[in-house]
Amino acid sequence: MDSLDTLKLLATQMSFEVDGEPRLTSAPSACFSPKEREQAFTHPAQLPNGQKILLLKTLLSSTCERDCFYCPFRAGRDFRRATFKPDEFAGLFAKLSAARMAEGVFLSSGVAGGGVRTQDQLLATAEILRQKYQYRGYIHLKIMPGAEKDQVYRAMQLADRVSINLEAPNTERLAKLAPHKIFLEELLQPLKWVEEIRKTVPAHKFWNGRWPSTVTQFVAGGSDESDLELLTATNWLNKNVRLNRAYFSAFHPIGDTPFENKPATDPMREHRLYQASFLLRDYGFDLEDLPFTSIHNLPLDADPKQAWAQIYLADKPIEINKAERRELIRIPGIGLKGADAILNARSINRLRDLSSLKKLGIIAERAAPYLLFNGHRAAIQMKLL
Ligand code: SF4
Repeated sequence: MDSLDTLKLLATQMSFEVDGEPRLTSAPSACFSPKEREQAFTHPAQLPNGQKILLLKTLLSSTCERDCFYCPFRAGRDFRRATFKPDEFAGLFAKLSAARMAEGVFLSSGVAGGGVRTQDQLLATAEILRQKYQYRGYIHLKIMPGAEKDQVYRAMQLADRVSINLEAPNTERLAKLAPHKIFLEELLQPLKWVEEIRKTVPAHKFWNGRWPSTVTQFVAGGSDESDLELLTATNWLNKNVRLNRAYFSAFHPIGDTPFENKPATDPMREHRLYQASFLLRDYGFDLEDLPFTSIHNLPLDADPKQAWAQIYLADKPIEINKAERRELIRIPGIGLKGADAILNARSINRLRDLSSLKKLGIIAERAAPYLLFNGHRAAIQMKLL
């Protein structure tokens, strides 16, 4: 198998790794044949600064000695595996980057020879890219379970983003998913180290003069956990280790794994978890504000922000010309940018009706039941429109 064949195989296998980034075909290039271009497997991705790039997501190796119940790469499962050496992958990626076929890389791996050794392979790859090939673009590095603190530090020096997948919200739930992973020591501890390092080492000592962002991923429905457990963990991570984002991947059974007959999770659950996690992270909501059912899950048929507003705002609508930003962003249809646009417009003129909100890009129909314009219910305007 040559390097491009290895990349085709590993990048395809990496598509099992969900992090919210959609797919795209490769960009055109004069240096690679059409067949080679097909094999590049890049995806569009939006960086934390809003920049859009073509991201190559791949495994360094699909060999794994662990046996997580849900995972296609678990030890003993029969499928074609492949492994890159660090210099082999770095050389290939440098060519793809020079040909503008990939503008960033997300590098993960199965665990082979222990978490420390595997992390060394990932670090060596990033070091070759940064030092030998002077690659200045985006690198997202996965932290392996069991990696050491100095390896986490080195990853932070080389990467724009580091991620550690918790998979489950706590020790008890992880035992149902991944019997040989240790929640506190192997998975949560590296996230705590990232935050410790951020607190003690100035940002200018890191790649690009910034601390890398951190993300994690949960398998929603993999361990029979509730939404409350997942969002409690997410809320803790947001507040204590400055997690940039939690990803939720709806469980989907994979053949020839112990979970092959476990029912798939409804994708709507993943969607509701994202909505709720954004409310916790960006909109000032607390866990108690979320409309959990008696079994501690979010209703699948209701947007959590809308459900909250129906309980707390339907009878006490908010005066749009007086509300503070923290009140505005709790109104359905008004996002963070929308609230800022309202405050800006209000500093010039009073807002008089729903059409003035529409001009600001706000979903006026959703906001109307919870608003007053100068003491009058906006919902009545809706009936007249
Ligand atoms: S350690 Fe990672 S790659 Fe290996 S079986 Fe578990 S989830 Fe899969």
